[in-house]
Amino acid sequence: MIKKILIANRGEIAVRIVRACAEMGIRSVAIYSEADRHALHVKRADEAHSIGEDPLAGYLNPRALVNLAVETGCDALHPGYGFLSENAELAEICAERGIKFIGPSAEVIRRMGDKTEARRSMMAAGVPCTPGTEGNVADLAEALREAERIGYPVMLKATSGGGGRGIRRCNSRDELEQAFPRVISEATKAFGSAEVFLEKCIVNPKHIEAQILADSFGNTVHLFERDCSIQRRNQKLIEIAPSPQLTPEQRAYIGDLAVRAAKAVGYENAGTVEFLLADGEVYFMEMNTRVQVEHTITEEITGIDIVREQIRIASGLELSVKQEDIIHRGFALQFRINAEDPKNNFLPSFGKITRYYAPGGPGVRTDTAIYTGYTIPPYYDSMCLKLIVWALTWEEALDRGLRALDDMRVQGVRTTAPYYQEILRNPEFRSGQFNTSFVESHPELTQYSIKRNPSHLAIAIATAIAAHAGL
Ligand code: ADP
Ligand code: ADP
Ligand code: MG
Repeated sequence: MIKKILIANRGEIAVRIVRACAEMGIRSVAIYSEADRHALHVKRADEAHSIGEDPLAGYLNPRALVNLAVETGCDALHPGYGFLSENAELAEICAERGIKFIGPSAEVIRRMGDKTEARRSMMAAGVPCTPGTEGNVADLAEALREAERIGYPVMLKATSGGGGRGIRRCNSRDELEQAFPRVISEATKAFGSAEVFLEKCIVNPKHIEAQILADSFGNTVHLFERDCSIQRRNQKLIEIAPSPQLTPEQRAYIGDLAVRAAKAVGYENAGTVEFLLADGEVYFMEMNTRVQVEHTITEEITGIDIVREQIRIASGLELSVKQEDIIHRGFALQFRINAEDPKNNFLPSFGKITRYYAPGGPGVRTDTAIYTGYTIPPYYDSMCLKLIVWALTWEEALDRGLRALDDMRVQGVRTTAPYYQEILRNPEFRSGQFNTSFVESHPELTQYSIKRNPSHLAIAIATAIAAHAGL
């Protein structure tokens, strides 16, 4: 059994992993850049070590991180999400140095991190993929030829892309010509690879992803799906589990497809298989070989602690659940509270949190690393808090979301919280039928005026009058 884990990450996910360690009697080691000296993950871990002055270099240096794991007597390393979580070299160095990497093998990370390679593996396994190029496209001429064959609109995508970056929809030959050099330069800068490929653009799809867990004994299960169709610029804002727009048959089909996909590549540990759904068709999009930001909502509907399972799997234990024992109950929503100003084109709003009150009450969870007095550094992601709500029915979950967002106080920076309240009041969203174009087709939802919830005031007055009248 693993006894001590180096957490090669920061912020809320590092805190999340510390919590799992604490509950399992495992020692946790945090790392921090100078900018993170006062971060919560540093305070909460059993030990914390500086990884240098630079805000990013230390978090991105696989060899130095594995050295630190060895020096501090760790027997495992958890990469979290982002940073080096999908870096095959980190998994390799861990293996060389006798540190258990909490994730799949380097080979699987490499294979699934290359989106064209992943597509080929999936097609071979009989998992339906979006129509597209067989591999990377060598140059613009080939891209234009392939786009004619596939049919516009097409998506030009970075082969090693992630985080919604390096993706461009092209509706015509002209647009593809313009986008081609841009996506290549973006991919080179962000992912260190100039490789790109084309996929048919699925118009107005739903983003549905399945959570899987696989142990080293060949047991692979799915934990149902998450609906991540509420996105802005291909980045997720609100995630929902289970999807309110699937039939039980579709749910079972997608879960089985995800298990098939994982088994086909010999997957071990937790992973997510992402699909697009449109017109009754399901298409494999990509696999994320790590814990995801939105794993929380799956935990809420299934009661399974995904980070704990990750650590158990890496310890060589069998999955603690069998497929037939995994059930889902109610609905969970996760709101990514970003330090951004929705009224100002989602401009980042870094700075000092002058006041923070966590929302509470039944069915409410917050995963965050902020606290009153904490200054959000400008070097990292703008997501500063994940608010998760759970309730038995879809309507209750929506109302609980509104209430919890109203309970919460994050002051000193602008956040996306009031924007999410507008989404929660929107009849189309409430109907449970939406696709990835929802955010773009509702620009009016960013034009809210900041005031306390008037409906609550109205309810309070009506209640007082009713009480007075003896009703
Ligand atoms: P990333 O690795 O950045 O997460 P994905 O391949 O998962 O990239 O795509 C991110 C988002 O972009 C998807 O959730 C979806 O909204 C959109 N997208 C990607 N591929 C397509 C496609 N072929 N057709 C339509 N939308 C797509
Ligand atoms: P320092 O030594 O840097 O002053 P403290 O432990 O006093 O660190 O905490 C600084 C801030 O972090 C305080 O505002 C405190 O409320 C917050 N904090 C510390 N530990 C926790 C915790 N476990 N949960 C939430 N906030 C915390
Ligand atoms: Mg994705």
